Amino acid sequence: MEQTFIMIKPDGVQRGLVGEIIIRFEKKGFSLKGLKLMTVDRPFAEKHYEDLSSKPFFGSLIEYITSGPVVAMIWEGEGVVKTGRTIIGATNPAQSAPGTIRGDLAIVTGRNIIHGSDSVESAQKEIALWFPDGPIN
Ligand code: ATP
Ligand code: MG
Repeated sequence: MEQTFIMIKPDGVQRGLVGEIIIRFEKKGFSLKGLKLMTVDRPFAEKHYEDLSSKPFFGSLIEYITSGPVVAMIWEGEGVVKTGRTIIGATNPAQSAPGTIRGDLAIVTGRNIIHGSDSVESAQKEIALWFPDGPIN
C-alpha cells in the first residue's frame, strides 16, 4: 500500500498543532504507520532538503527545520502522497485554499508548519532517511 512521509515542522509543534494535524489525516481515513518526535541537526536537514540546496532560501530553511523538535510520521493509504499534499495545501499559505492545513493554520511560506513528500519516489527516500530502523523503533 502507498505510503508518504509527513513532518510537522518546529513551528507546528511549538504552536500546539500536532493533534489538529493528525486528526485531519485520521478523519480522511489514512492510517498512521510510524511517528516520532525528534530534533534534527544541520547535516540531516540538508540531506532531507538536498534538492533545494541551490535555492536562495536554503540557509534559512535549514535554520527553520533545525530550530526545535519536529514530528516525523509515516501515513498509509490509497493515493496518500497526492491526497496528502492536497490536505496540506500550497507551499505559500497565502495561496493555500481554506480547508487545507496551511490555508487554515499558517500565514507565510517560511513558517508553513508541515512537510509532505511530493512523489511516491521521494516518499520512499524520505521514509528510509527518517525511519532507518523501520516504522516502529
Ligand atoms: P515541503 O517540501 O516542506 O513539503 P513544498 O513541497 O510545498 O514544502 P518546496 O518547494 O519543497 O515546497 O520547499 C520546501 C520548503 O522550503 C517549503 O515548505 C518552505 O518551508 C521553504 N520554502 C520554499 N520556498 C520558499 C521561499 N520562497 N522562501 C522561503 N522559504 C521557502
Ligand atoms: Mg517539497
